[in-house]
Amino acid sequence: MSSGNPALSLDQEINPWEAQNARFDFAARKLNLDEGLWKLLRTPARELIVHFPVAMDDGHIEIFTGFRVQHNIARGPCKGGIRYSPDVTLDEVRALASWMTWKCAVVNIPFGGAKGGVICDPKSMSRGELERMTRRYTSEIIEFIGPEKDVPAPDVNTNEQTMAWIMDTYSMHMRQTVTSVVTGKPLDMGGSRGRIEATGRGVMIACNESLRYLNMSIEGCRVIIQGFGNVGSNAARLMMEQGYKIVGIAEKDGGLYNNNGIDIHQLAEYKYRNGTTLGFRGGEDVPSEELLLNDCDILIPAATENVITSRNAAQIKAKIVVEGANGPTTAVADEILAEKRIFIVPDILANAGGVTASYYEWVQDRQGYFWKEAVINEQLETLLRDSFDDVVRYAEAHNVNNRIAAYMLAIDRVAFTIRQRGIYA
Ligand code: GLU
Repeated sequence: MSSGNPALSLDQEINPWEAQNARFDFAARKLNLDEGLWKLLRTPARELIVHFPVAMDDGHIEIFTGFRVQHNIARGPCKGGIRYSPDVTLDEVRALASWMTWKCAVVNIPFGGAKGGVICDPKSMSRGELERMTRRYTSEIIEFIGPEKDVPAPDVNTNEQTMAWIMDTYSMHMRQTVTSVVTGKPLDMGGSRGRIEATGRGVMIACNESLRYLNMSIEGCRVIIQGFGNVGSNAARLMMEQGYKIVGIAEKDGGLYNNNGIDIHQLAEYKYRNGTTLGFRGGEDVPSEELLLNDCDILIPAATENVITSRNAAQIKAKIVVEGANGPTTAVADEILAEKRIFIVPDILANAGGVTASYYEWVQDRQGYFWKEAVINEQLETLLRDSFDDVVRYAEAHNVNNRIAAYMLAIDRVAFTIRQRGIYA
């Protein structure tokens, strides 16, 4: 049985919405989900498209398009990041919103799923332009967000500063400071200790658990990471500190390989100073696409979607793939990796550390009492270890791979709540 359709064109294969639907349908069929719930959970509840003006630095007005998709609120308010990128599409945001519902359910935190995005090229915009765009986008979606409705967070190309602007804009409209409307904020305005590195930390925990499950050891474990942004760089640093050997870092503009392990502290400092990993002396330059196919124990795609597709999956030599990004593997590629018996920790589990720490931030904001970093890291670790255990046990019990197990577990939890609440139809 398969969750990916090999007859798809590459365009269809790399459409994230198709990728989520393929896995969802497969898992729903396995669960014998009844038709009504199937249709309900396959369809995002709300899809908001906004076109809005922004005054650019040279005085002209530019029109931007933004999205906010709210997939499901059965288990709690919607939760999910906002990304800024020229490639954002409604289908992508839909898929990411659904993945947030499943991700929150897999780690059993009380949120539904949402995602937002603005089509823009943040690298070519000034700080002032980014601030004005963020504030206007926030005001366009303001009725739909709120601590009890939908709580945005950072995602690709957004950060603490973006969240500060959203929090401020929302608060100005509400005539009071509402810190819990977004997570991933700066520490001194309602942010949480440990949030910035939480996704990377979660990736490391997923790696540790995979090794434990497969009876492999950290010592000598060779890791290649694709992406050196927030998720990739934090995972790399924390893992190096734990004794993993990070032999490869693949970035958009080129890859680095060092058989003896790359010094991640030095690389992070180099990237901070130069804005790129290109030219770093602590490894040899290798094209990124080749680096992904190198021999290693763990491959961590930690950037964006569609990194492992039908084009390269057969050549991947890693024993374990831990998905730090959302949707890095297509449904067709899943089949190929399964045939090669590669152990996969799917995105909705492997990168759930970020939203879990967001949950802790939201709780702290609402109670007005802030926890020590050690408390957050300890709770994060316990919760992710338990979730990993839930997924692999579920996979064993139902004889499915980890991805389908994670979907089944999540869909089952959301469907259970919907049945309990009843459908207001
Ligand atoms: N954007 C992150 C994700 O994809 C974090 C979401 C959140 O913290 O709400 O999981």
